[in-house]
Amino acid sequence: MAPDLYLDANATSPVLPSAIAAAVEAMEASFGNPSSSHATGLRAKRILDTTRVRARRVLGAGPGRVLFTSGATEGIQTAVLSALVAVRERRAAGEDCGDLLVYGATEHKAVSESLAHWNRLLGTGLALQPLPVDPAGRHRLDVLRDLAPRAAMVCTMAANNETGAISDLDGIARVLRASGSTAYWMVDCVQALGKLPLDLANTRIDYAPFSGHKLHAPKGIGILYVRDGAPYTPLMIGGGQEDGQRSGTENMAGIAALGAVLAALEEGTTFRTHAELAAMRDRLAAALRDAFPGIVFNAPFEHTLPTTLNVAVPGVSSKDLLDLFDAAGVRVSAGSACSAAKAAPSYVLDAMGLPLWRSGGAVRLSIGPLADDAFIDAACARLRRCGDALRTSPLSGGNPGVMQVSGDGRHGWIVFDAGTCVAIDPPPGQVDRIAALARDAGLRLTEFDAADRATVALDDGSHAPCMP
Ligand code: PLP
Repeated sequence: MAPDLYLDANATSPVLPSAIAAAVEAMEASFGNPSSSHATGLRAKRILDTTRVRARRVLGAGPGRVLFTSGATEGIQTAVLSALVAVRERRAAGEDCGDLLVYGATEHKAVSESLAHWNRLLGTGLALQPLPVDPAGRHRLDVLRDLAPRAAMVCTMAANNETGAISDLDGIARVLRASGSTAYWMVDCVQALGKLPLDLANTRIDYAPFSGHKLHAPKGIGILYVRDGAPYTPLMIGGGQEDGQRSGTENMAGIAALGAVLAALEEGTTFRTHAELAAMRDRLAAALRDAFPGIVFNAPFEHTLPTTLNVAVPGVSSKDLLDLFDAAGVRVSAGSACSAAKAAPSYVLDAMGLPLWRSGGAVRLSIGPLADDAFIDAACARLRRCGDALRTSPLSGGNPGVMQVSGDGRHGWIVFDAGTCVAIDPPPGQVDRIAALARDAGLRLTEFDAADRATVALDDGSHAPCMP
């Protein structure tokens, strides 16, 4: 069995070996509580301080706050809470802070949901206003120009997780400055770390959340940057850790691991450069074009991260492409939230104005900056084989093949052979869909339940061969 090829780095990434070693060291030798005053605690405190200093340098945080959080979702809550509490106080003092919470239409749901949640809880009564994007997924600066004078807060991500679309942050800053807006500005930088240059203190950005697991640190560790002078309200109060800004004993294994990733970023040879990643993206794109003639790329390369490809293949649903890739051991995502049985169109691609077949049929392939040429060689070869399998599948009138079907948290397989189609352990909710596919393709379908070794004839009374 060929090894799995993981092309889903925007969802999460494998932990860097030096980060694993740092986490283990922090749990074994340096297990102390960094708030303890004895030597064991001081050793842990050194890891905490060193990681913060590194983070400060990598983010270009200047005199801003750099806090460790559990991830970007917490950083986003903290930023939104801080901004809305400040808006409430300024209003109580008679200031006009605007009446809108403006957020990019393609933001991660953590942003729009947090805005709605804290606006409701704090009773700020602001109106949520999505900021439209253009067909490349970039914010409509002409619309922002109109909205900026009324905005209490503006949220615009640095790069999109589904398409890799890179925002024009300089353009947004220019619009905010020109309008004289006093809006607090949050930039979700989750997909930017290690992929785009950061120099936060030299920008107008007030809040920038990050998530470790998107760049080879473990899950459950993140960073929140807060501009020097931007309002701050702690989300969590208690023992006074992080100078009282985020209480709770620190996730020292996560912080140590994140420190190792930041050290690798600073050292400069562990991760691929932008140009190297762009060359890898071009090779993957060429393999995809060979494999799936007619394939379309849902975001133009000139404005996207070189690590993200979002594609659609005419006539092939996102679900069927995912099944094909999964059966071939290529791990990718639907470009959208995808229930087990049916893929919902992507709200990100919908916001870009793409036709339904492209937003409903989208598949995202994403690599991390650790990728190397051998990995890209293997991925290209496997993608070409997927194209061959699709062309020769009995579903398109060809030869034997295998396809994975998933649903209700279970996986099953369909094996095609000479006019028959055998469903092995099909998830119950998928049986009707498989039967319809087989009928459309003129195949005889049998279902084989490997769990109880029974064979069940669905269509014509014939039985499936027994699989070893
Ligand atoms: N923002 C973006 C752009 C993301 O891609 C993600 C994760 O998918 C998040 C926020 C949330 O990050 P986390 O799950 O680490 O809190």
